Amino acid sequence: METIFKDEAIVLRKSFVGDFDLSITVYTRQTGKENIYIPKGQIIKSNLITATEPFNWFSGVFKYIKGKLYLQEIDTYRNLALPLAKDINRFNTAFDINFVFNRYVIFPDEKFFILLKKTLYYLSEGVNPEILKINFLVKLIYLSGIFPELDKCQQCSVKINQKNFSVLSIEKAGCLCINCSSNREKFNNYSILNLLKKLKNISFKNIQNINIQKKEIEKLDKFLNAYLSHHL
Ligand SMILES: [Zn+2]
Repeated sequence: METIFKDEAIVLRKSFVGDFDLSITVYTRQTGKENIYIPKGQIIKSNLITATEPFNWFSGVFKYIKGKLYLQEIDTYRNLALPLAKDINRFNTAFDINFVFNRYVIFPDEKFFILLKKTLYYLSEGVNPEILKINFLVKLIYLSGIFPELDKCQQCSVKINQKNFSVLSIEKAGCLCINCSSNREKFNNYSILNLLKKLKNISFKNIQNINIQKKEIEKLDKFLNAYLSHHL
């Protein structure tokens, strides 16, 4: 049985198969994560090969044959790999983002597709890579339905403010007040709460305007990675 359909995809990774063929992992708008086999992909020269470099976005015609997915043709593509490769910091960030995405996003969901597409676009346009990365992680956590509770204590439900806040707990998935916490965890900084709230809601075009100190970015990045690996 053969099924032909149009879709958009972002390339997560590319690997060589034998001496001639290629296999790419993509995340598509409609069907989510897919592996595509490209026979003779290592030796043919066409826009199909340029389009299938990691980080690139393309739209095209896909074909299922006996449970395997093939690319029939590319309609349009945007080469994001090229501008990203021009700056080592941007490239490393794109690599980290694709890695995290490939690891944690399993199911098809258009919202995840849009998050990744926008993140790579804005990264290629030169927006601050560190801020884009924590913005990506916060939104990934939110879209995965595991965003931490920041307004109430997870133990006694008291409303959290700067005075009674003790700790943002990874295990409890939210804040603990001073009465409920023994305060032995590391991420006990109130400013992180406000950053998390801000990044959850901020649109991509306003990211440029956000002002975060490097120290706070590092702290938040550490927290978000630990949070993801604990909850997903
Ligand atoms: Zn409490």
